[in-house]
Amino acid sequence: MRSGIAKGEFHLKYQPQYDLFTGRIVGAEALARWQHPVLGELMPEQFIPLAEDSGLIVPLGRWVLFEACRQNRKWQREGLVPITIGVNVSARQFRDAGLIADVRETLGRTGLAANYLELEVTESLLMQNADQAVRLMDDFRKIGLKLAIDDFGTGFSSLIALKSFPLTRLKIDQSFIRDLETDENDRSIARAIISLGRELGLNVVAEGVETAKQQAFLASCKCETVQGFHFGRPMSAEKLGKLLGMSLTTINAHFG
Ligand code: C2E
Ligand code: MG
Ligand code: MG
Repeated sequence: MRSGIAKGEFHLKYQPQYDLFTGRIVGAEALARWQHPVLGELMPEQFIPLAEDSGLIVPLGRWVLFEACRQNRKWQREGLVPITIGVNVSARQFRDAGLIADVRETLGRTGLAANYLELEVTESLLMQNADQAVRLMDDFRKIGLKLAIDDFGTGFSSLIALKSFPLTRLKIDQSFIRDLETDENDRSIARAIISLGRELGLNVVAEGVETAKQQAFLASCKCETVQGFHFGRPMSAEKLGKLLGMSLTTINAHFG
């Protein structure tokens, strides 16, 4: 993996996030892929755990951060509508003292304004060391970064802790979205998370939206933002750039 990073075998795919009411792309999540010379394209579940155990997640994560910011700034320089780029941060990276310096340096080198970068962290990561996490997140918020809780609902967030984290967004885990059409409990949970987010002044993103019916339910709950195969799979930077350049009417095809 170390040599794979050095040889440029990693690349990023970008999955669009849409505002459910305007139909506009407002963000994209950067998702790592490893083009292995022998094994072909590897998905994150096949290499992120290994990277975490070995500590290589720190250099890999640094590369992901740089590449995502560089690409986002490039789209902006091309005159495309500015979006926020989401970057996943694992527990090991979050504990690494150099993360904040890496973020500052990356923003400086790429010229991306901080408010177009969002770090995604999981609930369990935050709860492991809540006090330290609050301090670090405060530092990030001071720089102007956005902060999201990923896979929300799967960890054990205490609502008190949630209030003390300087967050901008909750991402509802896809396990609650999957069975929205058939499972009344999932509908209740999704509705509750959306109103919790609203009350706390946070943007809420539903992840893993695959069908028009799920979209309709989320719209009825006034969920602001959606991400999922129904709107677009993770795609190359080139393809996302084309989508950003398309007229709104075309994008609106989904939103009938
Ligand atoms: P995540 O951050 O929760 O990312 C969302 C995952 O859900 C992505 O999987 C995405 O392809 C998938 N997904 C999106 N829409 C749908 C849908 O409609 N249906 C279904 N079934 N799946 C959908 P992916 O790319 O395989 O990434 C898996 C996980 O790996 C991510 O989950 C994230 O935790 C981790 N990961 C990916 N890239 C990085 C990275 O650069 N650094 C770190 N630390 N973790 C990463
Ligand atoms: Mg994520
Ligand atoms: Mg997630």
